[in-house]
Amino acid sequence: MSRRPFIVAIDGPAGAGKSSVSKLLARRLGFSLVDTGAIYRCVALMARREGVALEDDAGLEALLGRIQVTFKMVGEENRVFLMGEDVSGDIRLPENSMAASVVSRRPVVRQGLLELQRRLALEAESGAILEGRDIGTVVFPDADAKFFLEADPKTRARRRYEELFQKGTERPLQEVLEDQTRRDQADMEREVAPLKAAEDAVRVDSSALQLSEVVQRIEQVVRERMAARG
Ligand code: C5P
Repeated sequence: MSRRPFIVAIDGPAGAGKSSVSKLLARRLGFSLVDTGAIYRCVALMARREGVALEDDAGLEALLGRIQVTFKMVGEENRVFLMGEDVSGDIRLPENSMAASVVSRRPVVRQGLLELQRRLALEAESGAILEGRDIGTVVFPDADAKFFLEADPKTRARRRYEELFQKGTERPLQEVLEDQTRRDQADMEREVAPLKAAEDAVRVDSSALQLSEVVQRIEQVVRERMAARG
């Protein structure tokens, strides 16, 4: 019988550095990468494009029955494809970020995406890194290694501001911080699968750490667990 891939869960609030850390870690370990936030963002984009209201459960359910999301590493980037179209840029526009936060509150959406998230991870050859909000608590409660990545809100907003700036979108830092606070609050307060650290997650505060230091810490734990699994 073939063994399940090694599953690494990386959860945490917006801007904690999950994407950068996960990308580097996936490359160093030769694991595949599942950006679950990008999947919620794809649901929001598809709903907006098709004129489905973000709180229309029946409309969202029909859309979830057809959605196809795939990932592909192109150079340094983990590109996201929705129905075969590269939507990596569109899904990260600020209006779509808020829409993703709204659809992610709907139980029908969370339930509808469970199987897709699990399948993408289980298709991996040796291991998969899943980044999100509820990976260690809901999607893979039996993940082989779980991390909860945090940083203080101002540090996270500044990182997000710089990321947007580099991609050609300039927004006042205060606005980025306000959006982030709204999204964090919605993520923490929703009834289904709220953002919270799994009890057995290793917590890493990245506020005062370089990206390379965060990756190093996490990689060390993952390698120890892999060795223990044999
Ligand atoms: O991680 P990212 O900011 O791209 O996620 C976009 C939105 O998707 C988040 O604001 C959150 O509401 C939602 N999300 C979620 N559960 C996940 C991943 C993302 O609810 N596992």
